[in-house]
Amino acid sequence: RAKEAVGRRTRFYSQDMDEAARARRLLANDLREAIGRGELSLAYQVQRSISTDLVIGYEALLRWHHPRDGWISPTEFIPIAEESGEIVRIGEWVLRAACVEAASWEQPWRIAVNLSPVQLMQPDLIAVVTSALVSAGLPAHRLELEITETALIADKVRALHVLRQIKALGVTIAIDDFGTGYSSLDTLNSFPFDKIKIDRSFLMQSETSRQARAIIRAVLALGHSLEVPVLAEGLESEDQLRLLRSEGCDEAQGYYFGRPMPMAANIEFAQRSEAA
Ligand code: C2E
Ligand code: MG
Ligand code: MG
Ligand code: MG
Repeated sequence: RAKEAVGRRTRFYSQDMDEAARARRLLANDLREAIGRGELSLAYQVQRSISTDLVIGYEALLRWHHPRDGWISPTEFIPIAEESGEIVRIGEWVLRAACVEAASWEQPWRIAVNLSPVQLMQPDLIAVVTSALVSAGLPAHRLELEITETALIADKVRALHVLRQIKALGVTIAIDDFGTGYSSLDTLNSFPFDKIKIDRSFLMQSETSRQARAIIRAVLALGHSLEVPVLAEGLESEDQLRLLRSEGCDEAQGYYFGRPMPMAANIEFAQRSEAA
Protein backbone atom coordinates (compact mmCIF):
# COMPACT_ATOMS: atom_id res chain seq x y z
CA ARG A 1 0.00 0.00 0.00
CA ALA A 2 2.78 2.34 1.04
CA LYS A 3 4.56 1.62 -2.18
CA GLU A 4 1.40 2.27 -4.13
CA ALA A 5 0.96 5.62 -2.39
CA VAL A 6 4.53 6.59 -3.18
CA GLY A 7 4.00 5.52 -6.77
CA ARG A 8 0.88 7.63 -6.98
CA ARG A 9 2.65 10.59 -5.47
CA THR A 10 5.58 10.38 -7.90
CA ARG A 11 3.13 10.09 -10.77
CA PHE A 12 1.41 13.30 -9.66
CA TYR A 13 4.78 14.86 -9.09
CA SER A 14 5.97 14.07 -12.59
CA GLN A 15 2.68 15.35 -13.99
CA ASP A 16 3.42 18.63 -12.24
CA MET A 17 6.87 18.60 -13.76
CA ASP A 18 5.42 18.03 -17.22
CA GLU A 19 3.01 20.84 -16.56
CA ALA A 20 5.83 23.19 -15.50
CA ALA A 21 7.94 22.21 -18.50
CA ARG A 22 4.97 22.80 -20.80
CA ALA A 23 4.35 26.23 -19.28
CA ARG A 24 8.03 27.13 -19.79
CA ARG A 25 7.88 25.97 -23.42
CA LEU A 26 4.79 28.08 -24.04
CA LEU A 27 6.39 31.13 -22.43
CA ALA A 28 9.58 30.56 -24.45
CA ASN A 29 7.45 30.60 -27.62
CA ASP A 30 5.58 33.74 -26.58
CA LEU A 31 8.86 35.46 -25.72
CA ARG A 32 10.02 35.03 -29.29
CA GLU A 33 7.16 37.29 -30.40
CA ALA A 34 7.37 39.71 -27.46
CA ILE A 35 9.72 42.28 -29.03
CA GLY A 36 7.83 42.40 -32.32
CA ARG A 37 4.51 42.79 -30.55
CA GLY A 38 5.79 45.64 -28.39
CA GLU A 39 5.21 43.74 -25.14
CA LEU A 40 8.61 44.57 -23.62
CA SER A 41 9.36 47.83 -21.84
CA LEU A 42 11.92 49.20 -19.43
CA ALA A 43 11.39 50.46 -15.91
CA TYR A 44 14.06 52.72 -14.44
CA GLN A 45 15.15 52.71 -10.80
CA VAL A 46 17.09 55.62 -9.36
CA GLN A 47 20.55 55.25 -7.81
CA ARG A 48 21.67 57.99 -5.43
CA SER A 49 24.85 59.11 -3.72
CA ILE A 50 24.43 58.72 0.04
CA SER A 51 26.65 61.64 1.04
CA THR A 52 25.27 64.20 -1.45
CA ASP A 53 21.81 62.70 -2.03
CA LEU A 54 22.32 63.43 -5.76
CA VAL A 55 21.05 61.13 -8.48
CA ILE A 56 23.98 59.12 -9.88
CA GLY A 57 22.05 57.17 -12.45
CA TYR A 58 19.22 54.81 -13.21
CA GLU A 59 19.13 51.03 -13.61
CA ALA A 60 17.08 49.76 -16.55
CA LEU A 61 14.90 46.81 -15.52
CA LEU A 62 13.07 44.76 -18.11
CA ARG A 63 9.27 44.39 -17.98
CA TRP A 64 7.10 42.01 -19.99
CA HIS A 65 3.38 42.46 -20.38
CA HIS A 66 2.03 39.15 -21.64
CA PRO A 67 -1.14 39.47 -23.74
CA ARG A 68 -2.98 36.81 -21.70
CA ASP A 69 -1.11 36.45 -18.39
CA GLY A 70 -0.38 40.12 -17.72
CA TRP A 71 2.88 41.24 -16.09
CA ILE A 72 5.47 38.48 -15.77
CA SER A 73 8.48 38.99 -13.50
CA PRO A 74 11.97 39.05 -15.03
CA THR A 75 13.03 36.51 -12.41
CA GLU A 76 10.58 34.17 -14.14
CA PHE A 77 11.12 34.91 -17.83
CA ILE A 78 14.83 35.77 -17.99
CA PRO A 79 15.96 32.23 -17.09
CA ILE A 80 13.61 30.96 -19.81
CA ALA A 81 15.05 33.42 -22.32
CA GLU A 82 18.55 32.37 -21.31
CA GLU A 83 17.71 28.72 -21.82
CA SER A 84 16.17 29.31 -25.26
CA GLY A 85 18.88 31.74 -26.35
CA GLU A 86 16.28 34.47 -26.90
CA ILE A 87 18.07 36.56 -24.25
CA VAL A 88 20.62 37.53 -26.92
CA ARG A 89 18.01 39.37 -29.01
CA ILE A 90 16.17 40.66 -25.96
CA GLY A 91 19.37 41.83 -24.31
CA GLU A 92 20.34 43.74 -27.43
CA TRP A 93 16.89 45.35 -27.47
CA VAL A 94 17.34 46.40 -23.81
CA LEU A 95 20.78 47.82 -24.44
CA ARG A 96 19.66 49.86 -27.45
CA ALA A 97 16.47 51.13 -25.78
CA ALA A 98 18.30 52.07 -22.57
CA CYS A 99 21.05 53.96 -24.46
CA VAL A 100 18.47 55.88 -26.51
CA GLU A 101 16.57 56.76 -23.32
CA ALA A 102 19.73 57.94 -21.51
CA ALA A 103 20.85 60.02 -24.50
CA SER A 104 17.57 61.96 -24.28
CA TRP A 105 18.09 63.04 -20.64
CA GLU A 106 18.94 66.63 -19.82
CA GLN A 107 21.30 65.44 -17.08
CA PRO A 108 24.39 63.29 -17.67
CA TRP A 109 23.15 60.50 -15.38
CA ARG A 110 24.60 57.04 -15.84
CA ILE A 111 22.47 54.25 -17.25
CA ALA A 112 23.02 50.78 -15.75
CA VAL A 113 22.05 47.78 -17.87
CA ASN A 114 22.02 44.14 -16.72
CA LEU A 115 24.01 41.73 -18.86
CA SER A 116 23.17 38.04 -18.93
CA PRO A 117 26.01 35.48 -18.76
CA VAL A 118 24.77 34.26 -22.13
CA GLN A 119 25.30 37.71 -23.65
CA LEU A 120 28.74 37.92 -22.10
CA MET A 121 29.78 34.86 -24.10
CA GLN A 122 28.53 36.17 -27.49
CA PRO A 123 31.42 36.81 -29.88
CA ASP A 124 29.77 40.00 -31.17
CA LEU A 125 29.02 41.55 -27.75
CA ILE A 126 31.57 44.35 -28.15
CA ALA A 127 30.22 45.17 -31.61
CA VAL A 128 26.66 45.26 -30.23
CA VAL A 129 27.59 47.53 -27.31
CA THR A 130 29.54 49.86 -29.62
CA SER A 131 26.67 50.02 -32.06
CA ALA A 132 24.13 50.75 -29.30
CA LEU A 133 26.28 53.64 -28.02
CA VAL A 134 27.03 55.09 -31.44
CA SER A 135 23.48 54.92 -32.79
CA ALA A 136 22.09 56.46 -29.59
CA GLY A 137 24.86 59.07 -29.50
CA LEU A 138 25.62 58.17 -25.88
CA PRO A 139 29.18 58.70 -24.53
CA ALA A 140 30.60 55.34 -23.40
CA HIS A 141 31.34 56.52 -19.84
CA ARG A 142 27.61 56.99 -19.23
CA LEU A 143 26.91 53.28 -19.73
CA GLU A 144 27.46 50.82 -16.89
CA LEU A 145 27.04 47.08 -17.43
CA GLU A 146 25.92 45.02 -14.41
CA ILE A 147 27.31 41.53 -14.33
CA THR A 148 26.76 38.87 -11.66
CA GLU A 149 29.57 36.79 -10.26
CA THR A 150 28.08 33.59 -11.62
CA ALA A 151 28.43 35.07 -15.11
CA LEU A 152 32.14 35.46 -14.57
CA ILE A 153 33.16 32.13 -13.14
CA ALA A 154 31.78 29.86 -15.89
CA ASP A 155 34.67 30.63 -18.26
CA LYS A 156 37.08 32.90 -16.43
CA VAL A 157 39.65 33.35 -19.19
CA ARG A 158 37.02 34.32 -21.70
CA ALA A 159 35.17 36.55 -19.23
CA LEU A 160 38.36 38.42 -18.36
CA HIS A 161 39.07 39.03 -22.04
CA VAL A 162 35.53 40.39 -22.62
CA LEU A 163 35.59 42.62 -19.51
CA ARG A 164 38.88 44.15 -20.65
CA GLN A 165 37.36 44.93 -24.04
CA ILE A 166 34.30 46.51 -22.41
CA LYS A 167 36.54 48.69 -20.27
CA ALA A 168 38.62 49.65 -23.29
CA LEU A 169 35.45 51.14 -24.80
CA GLY A 170 35.15 53.38 -21.75
CA VAL A 171 32.07 51.55 -20.46
CA THR A 172 32.09 50.80 -16.71
CA ILE A 173 31.38 47.48 -15.01
CA ALA A 174 29.45 46.82 -11.80
CA ILE A 175 29.48 43.48 -9.98
CA ASP A 176 25.76 42.84 -9.30
CA ASP A 177 24.29 40.92 -6.34
CA PHE A 178 27.72 40.79 -4.72
CA GLY A 179 28.07 38.25 -1.93
CA THR A 180 25.63 35.68 -3.27
CA GLY A 181 27.89 34.08 -5.89
CA TYR A 182 30.22 31.17 -5.40
CA SER A 183 33.56 32.87 -4.98
CA SER A 184 33.17 36.53 -4.17
CA LEU A 185 36.75 37.26 -3.19
CA ASP A 186 38.09 35.47 -6.22
CA THR A 187 35.85 37.65 -8.38
CA LEU A 188 37.33 40.79 -6.85
CA ASN A 189 40.81 39.43 -7.27
CA SER A 190 40.48 38.34 -10.89
CA PHE A 191 38.35 40.86 -12.74
CA PRO A 192 38.47 44.58 -13.52
CA PHE A 193 35.36 46.39 -12.26
CA ASP A 194 34.26 49.86 -11.26
CA LYS A 195 31.56 49.28 -8.66
CA ILE A 196 30.36 46.67 -6.20
CA LYS A 197 26.61 46.27 -5.68
CA ILE A 198 25.97 44.50 -2.36
CA ASP A 199 23.08 42.08 -2.72
CA ARG A 200 19.91 43.29 -1.07
CA SER A 201 19.68 40.23 1.16
CA PHE A 202 22.33 41.79 3.45
CA LEU A 203 20.55 45.11 3.94
CA MET A 204 17.24 43.26 4.36
CA GLN A 205 18.68 41.44 7.38
CA SER A 206 20.70 44.35 8.72
CA GLU A 207 18.19 45.34 11.39
CA THR A 208 18.03 41.88 12.93
CA SER A 209 21.37 40.31 12.17
CA ARG A 210 24.74 41.37 13.52
CA GLN A 211 26.34 39.11 10.93
CA ALA A 212 24.63 40.89 8.07
CA ARG A 213 25.84 44.24 9.41
CA ALA A 214 29.36 42.89 9.79
CA ILE A 215 29.32 41.67 6.21
CA ILE A 216 28.12 45.03 4.90
CA ARG A 217 30.94 46.70 6.82
CA ALA A 218 33.47 44.21 5.46
CA VAL A 219 32.33 44.67 1.85
CA LEU A 220 32.58 48.45 2.28
CA ALA A 221 36.12 48.09 3.63
CA LEU A 222 37.00 45.80 0.72
CA GLY A 223 35.59 48.17 -1.86
CA HIS A 224 37.32 51.13 -0.33
CA SER A 225 40.71 49.48 -0.12
CA LEU A 226 40.28 48.47 -3.76
CA GLU A 227 39.23 52.07 -4.46
CA VAL A 228 35.86 51.26 -6.00
CA PRO A 229 32.52 52.67 -4.81
CA VAL A 230 30.03 50.35 -3.14
CA LEU A 231 26.28 50.57 -3.82
CA ALA A 232 23.79 48.96 -1.44
CA GLU A 233 20.76 47.34 -3.11
CA GLY A 234 17.31 47.10 -1.58
CA LEU A 235 17.23 50.26 0.55
CA GLU A 236 13.73 50.35 2.02
CA SER A 237 13.85 52.49 5.17
CA GLU A 238 15.24 55.58 6.85
CA ASP A 239 16.93 53.37 9.48
CA GLN A 240 18.74 51.43 6.79
CA LEU A 241 19.86 54.67 5.19
CA ARG A 242 21.19 55.87 8.54
CA LEU A 243 23.16 52.65 8.91
CA LEU A 244 24.62 52.96 5.41
CA ARG A 245 25.57 56.56 6.02
CA SER A 246 27.31 55.81 9.31
CA GLU A 247 29.23 52.93 7.70
CA GLY A 248 30.37 55.13 4.81
CA CYS A 249 28.51 53.41 2.01
CA ASP A 250 28.79 55.38 -1.24
CA GLU A 251 25.53 54.81 -3.09
CA ALA A 252 22.16 53.14 -2.68
CA GLN A 253 19.18 51.98 -4.66
CA GLY A 254 15.84 50.73 -3.38
CA TYR A 255 12.17 51.40 -2.80
CA TYR A 256 13.07 54.11 -0.22
CA PHE A 257 14.53 56.25 -3.02
CA GLY A 258 12.07 55.04 -5.63
CA ARG A 259 10.55 51.97 -7.23
CA PRO A 260 11.46 50.99 -10.76
CA MET A 261 9.05 52.97 -12.96
CA PRO A 262 8.71 54.47 -16.43
CA MET A 263 11.21 57.31 -16.92
CA ALA A 264 8.49 59.95 -17.19
CA ALA A 265 7.25 58.95 -13.73
CA ASN A 266 10.81 59.25 -12.33
CA ILE A 267 11.14 62.79 -13.68
CA GLU A 268 7.76 63.75 -12.25
CA PHE A 269 8.67 62.17 -8.90
CA ALA A 270 11.98 64.09 -8.80
CA GLN A 271 10.26 67.39 -9.63
CA ARG A 272 7.64 66.86 -6.95
CA SER A 273 10.23 66.08 -4.25
CA GLU A 274 12.26 69.11 -5.33
CA ALA A 275 9.19 71.31 -4.96
CA ALA A 276 8.43 69.85 -1.53
P1 C2E B 1 18.84 43.03 -10.15
O1 C2E B 1 19.64 43.44 -11.34
O2 C2E B 1 19.58 42.74 -8.90
O3 C2E B 1 17.77 44.19 -9.96
C1 C2E B 1 17.28 44.58 -8.72
C2 C2E B 1 15.96 43.95 -8.40
O4 C2E B 1 15.58 44.28 -7.08
C3 C2E B 1 14.82 44.45 -9.29
O5 C2E B 1 13.88 43.39 -9.45
C4 C2E B 1 14.22 45.56 -8.43
O6 C2E B 1 12.87 45.83 -8.76
C5 C2E B 1 14.33 44.94 -7.06
N1 C2E B 1 14.37 45.96 -6.02
C6 C2E B 1 14.86 47.22 -6.11
N2 C2E B 1 14.76 47.86 -4.93
C7 C2E B 1 14.18 47.02 -4.07
C8 C2E B 1 13.80 47.11 -2.68
O7 C2E B 1 13.97 48.14 -2.02
N3 C2E B 1 13.26 46.01 -2.12
C9 C2E B 1 13.05 44.87 -2.82
N4 C2E B 1 12.48 43.85 -2.19
N5 C2E B 1 13.39 44.73 -4.13
C10 C2E B 1 13.95 45.80 -4.75
P2 C2E B 1 13.26 43.02 -10.87
O8 C2E B 1 13.02 44.26 -11.67
O9 C2E B 1 12.14 42.08 -10.61
O10 C2E B 1 14.45 42.25 -11.58
C11 C2E B 1 14.92 41.06 -11.04
C12 C2E B 1 16.19 40.61 -11.72
O11 C2E B 1 15.95 40.31 -13.10
C13 C2E B 1 17.28 41.68 -11.74
O12 C2E B 1 17.95 41.73 -10.51
C14 C2E B 1 18.15 41.15 -12.87
O13 C2E B 1 18.98 40.12 -12.40
C15 C2E B 1 17.12 40.56 -13.80
N6 C2E B 1 16.87 41.52 -14.89
C16 C2E B 1 16.02 42.57 -14.94
N7 C2E B 1 16.10 43.21 -16.13
C17 C2E B 1 17.05 42.55 -16.85
C18 C2E B 1 17.61 42.73 -18.16
O14 C2E B 1 17.30 43.66 -18.91
N8 C2E B 1 18.56 41.81 -18.55
C19 C2E B 1 18.97 40.79 -17.74
N9 C2E B 1 19.88 39.92 -18.23
N10 C2E B 1 18.48 40.61 -16.51
C20 C2E B 1 17.54 41.48 -16.06
MG1 MG C 1 21.13 44.74 -11.67
MG1 MG D 1 21.29 43.35 -8.14
MG1 MG E 1 19.34 41.09 -7.20
